Amino acid sequence: MANYKKIGIMGGTFDPVHYGHLVLAEQVRSNLRLDCIYFVPSGDPPHKTDKVITDKYLRYEMVLLATVDNPRFDILDTELKSDKKNYTIDSIREIKKDLGINDKIYFITGADQILNIESWKDYKTLLRENVFIGASRPGYAEDELYKKISMLKKELHANIIHIEVPALAISSTDIRNRIREGNTIRYLLPESVEQYIYKHKLYK
Ligand code: ATP
Ligand code: MG
Repeated sequence: MANYKKIGIMGGTFDPVHYGHLVLAEQVRSNLRLDCIYFVPSGDPPHKTDKVITDKYLRYEMVLLATVDNPRFDILDTELKSDKKNYTIDSIREIKKDLGINDKIYFITGADQILNIESWKDYKTLLRENVFIGASRPGYAEDELYKKISMLKKELHANIIHIEVPALAISSTDIRNRIREGNTIRYLLPESVEQYIYKHKLYK
């Protein structure tokens, strides 16, 4: 892995991972001719958050199942190692150090994340140190995304690339709700992940 030059990083909760994530990562890889995309599942947030998230190791295993058949996808446990809250800026620095990368990495996000970027720790530095990908996502207005990206470029000299991906109106939230309601999730995520969810009785 050490000799890869153009690296993409796909962060997320992946609770669970679905085809929206995989299509996004693959499209960015192809458009930008990246050598490898690393999926980086988030750790479990410290107590006192109102959102209940599936155990980090189960989420990690689902990402593993979902990415194993793509030789240009890999997975990193950077954010699973500590029980503290992980911030993207710190994780990226750690990943670069571990992989011996000096170049900028390509950090992949969907529209909802870019629209909310001001809430991220040290977001100005984060945007300066890396190339960001802002992908369109169903449910988030395209013109809002354009406006936001040009504002960040103009005011912060951020390097943000807008990418259009095949529109998949899939979200982990919707998948969790469907399972709770006994609705189908088939074709929204890889079959191996679907079977894993049933085996471990997740999202009931
Ligand atoms: P949740 O509903 O729990 O927030 P999610 O589907 O948004 O789950 P995340 O793990 O939060 O999945 O997202 C990881 C990254 O993938 C984010 O940058 C998000 O914007 C992006 N993403 C997720 N689903 C899609 C999709 N269908 N199209 C484009 N981008 C997506
Ligand atoms: Mg999300």
